[in-house]
Amino acid sequence: MLEIQGIAVSPGVAIGQALILDREGYRITRCQIAPADRKTELQRLEQAIEAAADRMDTHREQSAISLGADVGAIFSAHVQLLRDPRLRVEWRQLIQEECFSAEYAVSTVLNRYAHAFRSMGSPIMAERAGDIRDIERVLLESLGGHPLDVSNTGAQPGILASHDLTPSETANLDRRLILGFCTEIGGPSGHTAIVARGLEIPAVVGLGPFLQKISGGSDIIVDGYRGRIILEPDEPTRVRYLERRVDRQCRAERLNTLRDLPATTRDDVRIRLLANIEFPHEVEACLARGAEGVGLYRTEFLYLSSETEPSEQEHYEAYSEVMKAFSGRPVVMRTLDLGADKMGQRPLAEQEHNPFLGLCSIRLSLRNPALFRTQLRAMMRASIEGDLRIMFPMITTLHELRTARMLLRQVSEDLQEDGFNIAGQIQVGMMVEVPAAVLMLEHFVREVDFISLGTNDLTQYTLAVDRSNEYVADLYTAVDPAVLRLIKTTVDVAAQYQVDLSVCGEMSSTPAYALLLVGFGVRTLSAPPAAIPQLKQALRSVTVDDCQFMAKRAMELETAREVDAFLNGHFATLLPDMALGV
Ligand code: PEP
Ligand code: MG
Repeated sequence: MLEIQGIAVSPGVAIGQALILDREGYRITRCQIAPADRKTELQRLEQAIEAAADRMDTHREQSAISLGADVGAIFSAHVQLLRDPRLRVEWRQLIQEECFSAEYAVSTVLNRYAHAFRSMGSPIMAERAGDIRDIERVLLESLGGHPLDVSNTGAQPGILASHDLTPSETANLDRRLILGFCTEIGGPSGHTAIVARGLEIPAVVGLGPFLQKISGGSDIIVDGYRGRIILEPDEPTRVRYLERRVDRQCRAERLNTLRDLPATTRDDVRIRLLANIEFPHEVEACLARGAEGVGLYRTEFLYLSSETEPSEQEHYEAYSEVMKAFSGRPVVMRTLDLGADKMGQRPLAEQEHNPFLGLCSIRLSLRNPALFRTQLRAMMRASIEGDLRIMFPMITTLHELRTARMLLRQVSEDLQEDGFNIAGQIQVGMMVEVPAAVLMLEHFVREVDFISLGTNDLTQYTLAVDRSNEYVADLYTAVDPAVLRLIKTTVDVAAQYQVDLSVCGEMSSTPAYALLLVGFGVRTLSAPPAAIPQLKQALRSVTVDDCQFMAKRAMELETAREVDAFLNGHFATLLPDMALGV
């Protein structure tokens, strides 16, 4: 049994067998065979070794001709290794004595060798580990393996283990087949993490190199609460986690009884709880959790989950589904926030050195007016189905806001000329997620109907910390005093100019932080649907005075660590049961 600590990004406990999506993307699902099948399995192994050796021999010949004998010799070494009698003995033993499949035997033994070479600390030995990986890939292919299609891993549900997962790969995971996932890289607030929360898939990222320690079919527990994985858990650990999972389910069911009650504090101050969604199908989860509307619809995920650019009709159908489900309650649709870590199959921008500071979000939309118009047309057409509000992401300058609004006006006129009905009043707002927007807020608020604080990016851009980078994850926190000052300024300016404000960054889904926001004067929070019940429970248990005390004290502290310790500590005194997870 081995425990590895990473970064918790999506709560929940998942227990199952590993489906490895390594850099080559091969998967091994079957690990055990019936004793009667051992002979056939040994034959499969022998045939695969011969087929792999033939392929490598062909590579050797071809590369010797085109690149010279030295390069060809690399493949000779591969063939030698592949035919190494010690390897063969170990593979055969696992099949013969322990009834493992040939794939599992190959992967387990080669993983062990690759790991041993890598841990010798010498670059030459690390290269040797790379050779072993290569042999594994060719052998698995010869055994009939296919690259793992993350959207459909076959019939067996399991835990996806991979080096990385992009937001669009995550968006395409089949919830019924992927019980949880764990990755070597990734940070606390990247979009992969956000999508995992949206899909309610337990996930841990930023674990560092661990793939070489497991094989396809290994037992794994993903603890999405504490941010760790347990490889090959022993029985008592497994039982403990099974019990913990049941406890959490019971707790979630108890919280569901609050669904139709308002999020009103003990001193009768009404807080609105809206939901963040990425896909139309999440409306079900929103309604089940008692969301009062949608505070952030990340519409770019329609783009990320399809092979081709969605048509106006496809956009329209998705938007209309969400609008209808919320029948008259507010739905804030954010226009495409593509780029940075959210690249589609067909990237709209060239590879950039600093994608988070590059051509992304509203900048990308304004540079691609045809694409932007398509989306705006679809949104406006859906506006007659309810209370649609349109929001522009990552607004940094007034010029961007004005250009985006002008395009929206043009689209509205075009639609009317084309004979479409659109709602008479559509509120238009912007995300406040770069420090420049906070500093210029007095000017922005005169030109919008509402603002939404995007604390994920505000944290990233204020602290100069990449939100999806595990190396700087310890610096990434929305309760850093510098970020808190920007949040407080935003809330104060919105109050002064009487502009509607909500907070839709992930910060609002942590109950202790949500109370701080209420203490600053925030009255609308938008969070992933799964976070809503516990937010409601926390809000209904405190007074605004309690929250103001937390806000005042937090602003007196000097470091993020102190703020976090104070907020969690005070939260535990206000709500001991919740802090203990009862
Ligand atoms: C944010 O930046 O806080 C936000 C809500 O938007 P996203 O996470 O999609 O960048
Ligand atoms: Mg953002």
